[in-house]
Amino acid sequence: MVRLYNTLSRTKEDLVTREEGRVLMYVCGPTVYNHIHIGNARTFLSFDVVRRYLEYRGFDVRFVQNITDVDDKIIRAANEEGVAASVVAKRYTEAFLKAMSDLGVKKPTAQPRATEAIPEMIEMVERLLERGHAYVIDGDVYFSVRSFPGYGTLSGRDIDECLAGSRVDVDERKADPLDFALWKSAKPGEPHWTSPWGEGRPGWHLECSVMSERELGLPFDIHGGATDLIFPHHENELAQSEAATGLPFVRYWMHGGLLQVNSEKMSKSLGNFLLLRDVLESYPAPVVRLLMLQTHYRSPLDFSTDRLDEARTAYERIATAVRNLRWARKAPSSVSGATTEDRAALAAALSAARAKFEADMDDDFNTAGALSAIFELTRQANSFLATNQVSLTADDHAALERAEAEAAELLSVLGVSLPEAEAGAVYPFEVIALAAELSGYKGSDPREAANALLAAREVARSEKNWAAADIVRDGLAGLGFVIEDTAAGARVVYRDGR
Ligand SMILES: [Zn+2]
Repeated sequence: MVRLYNTLSRTKEDLVTREEGRVLMYVCGPTVYNHIHIGNARTFLSFDVVRRYLEYRGFDVRFVQNITDVDDKIIRAANEEGVAASVVAKRYTEAFLKAMSDLGVKKPTAQPRATEAIPEMIEMVERLLERGHAYVIDGDVYFSVRSFPGYGTLSGRDIDECLAGSRVDVDERKADPLDFALWKSAKPGEPHWTSPWGEGRPGWHLECSVMSERELGLPFDIHGGATDLIFPHHENELAQSEAATGLPFVRYWMHGGLLQVNSEKMSKSLGNFLLLRDVLESYPAPVVRLLMLQTHYRSPLDFSTDRLDEARTAYERIATAVRNLRWARKAPSSVSGATTEDRAALAAALSAARAKFEADMDDDFNTAGALSAIFELTRQANSFLATNQVSLTADDHAALERAEAEAAELLSVLGVSLPEAEAGAVYPFEVIALAAELSGYKGSDPREAANALLAAREVARSEKNWAAADIVRDGLAGLGFVIEDTAAGARVVYRDGR
């Protein structure tokens, strides 16, 4: 049973969905006025993993994410550049979609844009006016916060605390300072649509209420976003939707923790403002994902180059371990093989890893625990390999194949991909040329060639010809391999990054 922390109840609850076997989920998307920063990326990555795990658990997940393509920030950016707001919105929508795909975030089931839902937003404002939850002043429409008794429940504040927490508002025409705009009359040069209250555009909060209801119906199961959206954005969405429909809005509210860079709040003035696309230029997506998933999604995350480098090392270790399993599996099988106990221990380690992975992920998506289960799995498989590589039977190969498949599957639930199994990967074909040069090998099989090199090194060592032995070692190192001397004999293993 999946359990998740619900911001509304402030406890972990069992996930019981509206429709059996289905999860209806909405995550607030970006406002497209700039490239997304690494903090936004963390939120979207967290909910991508929530979705992937629910799918792994057998749910049919309908995942909706909006794109805010009309907003004050977009209009400001467009004015600074001297172009139309739609030009800015289109450019950064495309940049956002590319950045998400580069990070390995799955495409939403539906990705509605605010500008495509204007008639429905006008319709919701009309419903709110009819029900006495909104009022019109000079072409602007405001939601009347005090008309909705539950206001403040999600963020856990009473109305007066909400007042203290909201930004000081200069508009003194409002009946109450807390009231927020449902519809704004357009100033000259701004994007605008015709409404019963004149030319204007929707307030930001409205689109999420309208598009989530249209795509998912009410109440839907999970609403996600970063912690800083709880107030006022999510509080306002909840008030609008429940006031307009009389139905409960959302069953489970999930909020992701914020991200700091080098232990400081990210800001342009501190010079630590990191865009996702810049980070992805220096670090591959699986490394960025590993770093982020090492911290629980609700906890604050400290992002730094040092931590990225550590994550890169961790990723290389796991990739190397999996490559070694691939190569060992392709070796000709021998008749002696691992002991029954060794094989049973490996099988038990695989089952234990999956059980721990699931228990951790069921417990409010504890990705750090789940990752440690995968690391332990690859460690066990490689220690099995280190003990037995020189004499693996067909049964041993099958056990290793299962270990590799297991590691790859669990990693893919976290969206962390492993390097492709490239052709000739048992050993690169260059090893044949090296063996021909140093040992006189005449065949065409990379693994035989590697063994011929090991034999040539043994001969050189027995003749105390250390220089010749070193040439073999250095030649293999040039292809990314090291020679390990084990009790059962020498073996060649791959070492990433050397
Ligand atoms: Zn929203």
